[in-house]
Amino acid sequence: MSEWRLSVAAYGGPEAIAREDLGALQPGPGEVLVRHRAIGVNFIDTYHRTGLYPVPLPAGLGVEAAGVVEALGEGVQGLRIGERVAYVTRVPGSYATARTVPAGELISLPDSVTDDLAAAALLKGLTAEALIFRCARVDKGATALVHAAAGGVGQILVQWLHAVGVTVIAHCGSVEKAAIARSMGADHALHCGFDTLAEEVRALTNGRGADVSFDGVGAESWTASLDALARRGMMVTFGNASGPVPPFSPLELSRRGSLFVSRPTLFDYIVTPEERQVAADRLFTALSDGTVKITIGKRFALIDAADAHRALEARQTTGSTLLIP
Ligand code: NDP
Repeated sequence: MSEWRLSVAAYGGPEAIAREDLGALQPGPGEVLVRHRAIGVNFIDTYHRTGLYPVPLPAGLGVEAAGVVEALGEGVQGLRIGERVAYVTRVPGSYATARTVPAGELISLPDSVTDDLAAAALLKGLTAEALIFRCARVDKGATALVHAAAGGVGQILVQWLHAVGVTVIAHCGSVEKAAIARSMGADHALHCGFDTLAEEVRALTNGRGADVSFDGVGAESWTASLDALARRGMMVTFGNASGPVPPFSPLELSRRGSLFVSRPTLFDYIVTPEERQVAADRLFTALSDGTVKITIGKRFALIDAADAHRALEARQTTGSTLLIP
């Protein structure tokens, strides 16, 4: 069967995304050919497209998908043809009809997790798991500020933090999105500008501030996040939806109350197959027991990925966005 993918030959806007024919694919030693059934769209895909996160060109796009094992390369054990799997990977190239993937990167899917659910939940849910439990290590009774709380990662953070017993202050770009965040379990949902956000957070916390800020917005929210934190609070800056955070002086942290800052990336929290499986099992449990519900806001045909990028970058999406091959 002849396969195709979407790739960029040069960094650029959504119009840089073009179809590339791949011919027939064969898995190499240790690899598996996965036929994609649903592909997750993530903000990182736009960073690869623009070159904010440089990748060798021409480059595929997309770092997660769910599908079916179609062929096994030499030496692959523990997987069978027809098995349902999903993966997240550092190497972009999932915007494709099928892909060869190292066997060690695959996660077997339980029957309860459909292809669409897996592609909508895996990267974003593993990120939320790592940020809450292993990066910030937030405890019951803490207060967390969650930016872009109606977005893909944001909705999962809100629900999981709420389940842990954390007071969630959600921040969103519109009143409609704030209502979504509230329906996910946020105790408070703000849609004010970043200039008054810290003030609003202090008003909600008797002047104390939040214990942690989960901030995937980046440049535009950086100062508001720091100003909104309590003494010895934790800034988790994990994305650049509005652009990368500019260089800063560590003195900014001491003068605001001995703050901590982490700039985590998921791939440092799922380093080995075992670590990835433990995190995935924790996510699948949260999905099956109802702790975390996934909203698929928009589905696009794979060929229309550029439209998905336009919607994501224009802040028009909520929840997860999928591409269907
Ligand atoms: P989202 O669905 O959250 O979309 C991004 C949201 O950011 C928008 O909907 C918007 O919400 C908000 N936003 C604020 N300012 C801007 C702006 N200027 N342009 C565009 N969006 C803006 O995306 P994802 O769930 O895919 O990712 C969320 C963040 O998490 C991203 O920064 C991503 O890079 C990061 N991430 C990091 C990972 C890591 O390992 N470090 C892993 C996964 C994701 P609103 O209108 O409500 O403000």
